[in-house]
Amino acid sequence: MSAKALEGKIALVTGGSRGIGRAIAERLGREGALVAVGYAREEGAADEVVARIEEGGGRAFALPAALGRHGDAAALWASFDARVSAYAPDGGVDIIVNNAGIVHWTTDESALTEEQFDELFAINVRAPYFIVQEAAGRLRDQGRIINISSGLARVASPEIKGYGATKGALDTLTLNLAKELGPRGITVNSVAPGVIETDINAEWLASPDVEKYAVGISALGRIGRPDDVSGVVAFLASDDARWVTGRVVDVTGGSGL
Ligand code: NAD
Repeated sequence: MSAKALEGKIALVTGGSRGIGRAIAERLGREGALVAVGYAREEGAADEVVARIEEGGGRAFALPAALGRHGDAAALWASFDARVSAYAPDGGVDIIVNNAGIVHWTTDESALTEEQFDELFAINVRAPYFIVQEAAGRLRDQGRIINISSGLARVASPEIKGYGATKGALDTLTLNLAKELGPRGITVNSVAPGVIETDINAEWLASPDVEKYAVGISALGRIGRPDDVSGVVAFLASDDARWVTGRVVDVTGGSGL
């Protein structure tokens, strides 16, 4: 990949204020893309990501984009239009990274509730579906859609099976969007991380036994970091990945080999 593989491109990263989304936003910014850093509530954290990108000579803006309610995608694009016009009058977008996601853990004592099930699907599946649908004419030809899935779409993990089901649904969306948008040179892929050290599983990883297990399942003998994922996303966003579409790219450090 050349030093500035994404020069001139405009990217949206949902949930870009922390964790994997933050690493993706910063990496796309370093590659030359103008990055819209989506956030739900953590405006200060999103501003920090913007500042970090600008310090590196890149361009970015924070984008309020709480997901999980009807109308969320339309609201996201309205905010995007209002902000992007300062940089690009035509308001197009080249790269959409559907990264925002949540998990609900269950135990024998506390099963998933219907409300939690609806929330999981609203944020992890419905939002990406409508973000792409509502992007409509904004998404440019030769564009990129990258959905952050999970290795748990393919490996059973009954205590978070509702979450796993959302990522399986997301992978099916990837497949269909790739077919639908392919004639325009737009590629659509899922990236499936394994265990990555972020807030989403900080509580779980706090147990030494769990940490040992998480290290042990990877062939590479450690827990993943957000920047293990962001480099793969940057590759898929680049022109070098133009012939890769409709796939789930495993970024689990060889988990469960
Ligand atoms: P995280 O909890 O640090 O980040 C999740 C991001 O999503 C945050 O920026 C958060 O603000 C945002 N978000 C959550 N709810 C939102 C809402 N309602 N509206 C808008 N944004 C919302 O966790 P992470 O590990 O960085 O997760 C990023 C993605 O990676 C998720 O889709 C997650 O499922 C996936 N993933 C993570 C791991 C892992 O081990 N960390 C493994 C596989 C997949």
